[in-house]
Amino acid sequence: MVYIVFLGAPGAGKGTQAASVARKLKLVHIATGDLFRQALERGTELGLAVKSYMEKGVLVPDQITIGMVLERISAPDSGVGAVFDGFPRNLKQAEALDEALARQGKAIDKAVHIGVSEEALLKRLGGRRVCRQCQAPCHVSDSPPRVEGRCDKCGGELYQRPDDSEESIKKRLEVYSDETTPLIDYYRRAGKLLEVAGEGGVEAVGKRIVAALGGERL
Ligand code: ADP
Ligand code: ZN
Repeated sequence: MVYIVFLGAPGAGKGTQAASVARKLKLVHIATGDLFRQALERGTELGLAVKSYMEKGVLVPDQITIGMVLERISAPDSGVGAVFDGFPRNLKQAEALDEALARQGKAIDKAVHIGVSEEALLKRLGGRRVCRQCQAPCHVSDSPPRVEGRCDKCGGELYQRPDDSEESIKKRLEVYSDETTPLIDYYRRAGKLLEVAGEGGVEAVGKRIVAALGGERL
């Protein structure tokens, strides 16, 4: 049973790497952005509640986000352990997560911070396309799909996230630097931080993460 948090700016590759670590270690992958986007696609009450925040690139209110995650981790399948991706995103969320896990006699084991320069982030986000069906990302020039407009993994339709517009990207990077970067210190002080360089290809970064986690005997 392992609980891992992924930290990194929008475009750092958190989603891709978190999914791969979850698969390798057989853990549940809990991605708040994906959960919100699914709710949006389905037009549920939650989707309606979060739409405007997501489009602007600001954080969804903590009450909604924390409620959704706590519900998710109390589901039986999360008992095997989980990889958190896009959560926590501020101190209040980090504390709420620690408290909720502590109530179950559990704790976050490691926080992996994927560091990427702002220049690379802007390039990645601008060319990013995401699958409507399975949420897998690709990049128009760095990792183009085999068939234009179609997901390599499932054949689903690729689209550009509305919050991957230039204006929202700027806002998301600002929100990350103001609200989320304090978490790097939060986990460092707790002795849980693993720093990984996020430049380079998906596989190279993945190997660095496995090496960092592997050295930890989880
Ligand atoms: P990225 O990391 O590329 O910005 P995500 O898919 O993780 O993308 O998140 C997209 C949007 O979903 C965020 O800009 C925010 O509006 C909302 N969101 C996701 N996770 C959280 C969270 N933990 N707290 C508040 N809002 C969140
Ligand atoms: Zn797909």
